[in-house]
Amino acid sequence: MTTADIGLIGLAVMGSNLALNIAEKGYTIAVNNRSPARIDEFVTMAKEQGLAGKVIPKADLAEFVQAVSRPRSIIIMVKAGAPVDAMIEQLLPHLEQGDAIIECGNSLFTDTQRRFDYLKPKGIGYLGAGVSGGEEGARHGPSIMVGGSKEQWHNAEDVLTAIAAKFNGESCCAYLGEGGAGHFVKTIHNGIEYGDMQMIAEVYGVMRDGLGMAPQACADVFKEWNRGPLNSYLIEITGHVLAAIDEPTGKPLVELILDKAGQKGTGVWSAIAAQQMGVPATAIEGAVAARSISSRKDERIAAEKIYGKRSAGKADVTLADLEQALLAGKIVSYAQGFAVIAKASDENGWKLPLSTIAKIWRAGCIIRSRFLDQMAAAYAKGDNANLLIVPDFVTLMKENHGALRKVVAAGAVGEFPLICLSAALSYFDSYRQAQGTANLIQGQRDFFGAHGFEIEGRGKDLHGEWPSTLGN
Ligand code: NDP
Repeated sequence: MTTADIGLIGLAVMGSNLALNIAEKGYTIAVNNRSPARIDEFVTMAKEQGLAGKVIPKADLAEFVQAVSRPRSIIIMVKAGAPVDAMIEQLLPHLEQGDAIIECGNSLFTDTQRRFDYLKPKGIGYLGAGVSGGEEGARHGPSIMVGGSKEQWHNAEDVLTAIAAKFNGESCCAYLGEGGAGHFVKTIHNGIEYGDMQMIAEVYGVMRDGLGMAPQACADVFKEWNRGPLNSYLIEITGHVLAAIDEPTGKPLVELILDKAGQKGTGVWSAIAAQQMGVPATAIEGAVAARSISSRKDERIAAEKIYGKRSAGKADVTLADLEQALLAGKIVSYAQGFAVIAKASDENGWKLPLSTIAKIWRAGCIIRSRFLDQMAAAYAKGDNANLLIVPDFVTLMKENHGALRKVVAAGAVGEFPLICLSAALSYFDSYRQAQGTANLIQGQRDFFGAHGFEIEGRGKDLHGEWPSTLGN
């Protein structure tokens, strides 16, 4: 009987494309799906692409597991949440010591950690792998962030590194750490993605409303920017989205799309993780908040009736200012995202390699960019310092924060919401300010709660002689 190199359960968009990618790289893959009709559809797809010979379809779960060579690596690509737990329970009776489940969906990293801990004593390996790049990436080369059982990673390493995107010949797949490390990194990737997208949208808002630019003119600018330091997948697709025409009306499509953004939760998870660890990630938080505000369309319409439309005229910024502001905002956002990863690494003992993470984000994933190559090089040189104090990025911030300041100021005066860009600027200004204002906060905390404060040379946990405010 032919045995498969690997198995995959869940043949929806992501799973089927990943399976075709695996088959195309020369590996034999056994496939299974809850609804058998989907397996038939997949086999037809594989035939059309000349890959049927590499596919072993099995509708029966026991037969599916038996078809995979030992020690088994079984990818599950089903809906995140309870279906993953259900799938694990169904698989367990059929697995043997040393086999591994590789869960490739968008799972919450704490769930992955829990599943890893649950399966470890049973002798079953558990790998949580974040896969980025959407449908296209899954088919032709995603970025794959792997965490979990290291021993079993080595059993699947060849397949996963072969199917991942390549940057200068290097695979954009890496093992990052134990337990939920891979899914944690994928979550922060998505948080950073939220920040990138929101900052781009804010700059588009200034172009549209402050500079009176039509979508095609904006598209041309993004196309141009994609040849410079902002070169990235998101800048590239922004140009395409802005240039698209709606066929029935002949109008720019972007002008017809409702200004309500959806979200599936990974941005929120990033913000929560950052907050829980006490790491400021204001750009991610701003981006999540901006999506929430966008979804409240009715409230915004009502509020505009109360306050009136923005009255200010043309924004006093140039396109060069906007390009530089976007670059500075992006550096701050990545500095925050990587700071969250560094802290999680310390707290969980994951030893997350920041340089490797930047490297495997250089291709395949949604935030892929030229900039990440610079970041990988910077982190490869030394420790996990905040990007804002890493020499190459210090130079970039010195060159570009003035433009960010100018754009944020123009936003304030011109009544343009710049939630993410202004959050990035405020973080930068707070981070680089040796003398802040928390002395006053500590005074207030001691006044109402006797929380104490520190005075250099006089010690910690000191208290003030505050006047009584009872009765006021
Ligand atoms: P979906 O998230 O839409 O999930 C559909 C698949 O899950 C089907 O195969 C379905 O089987 C199976 N399924 C659902 N519930 C159960 C259950 N209780 N038991 C067994 N199987 C079940 O598929 P996608 O391909 O869109 O995504 C898969 C994973 O990848 C998700 O975690 C998603 O968040 C993540 N992801 C998705 C991306 C995308 O662009 N779509 C990008 C990156 C990650 P059936 O056919 O029987 O209904």
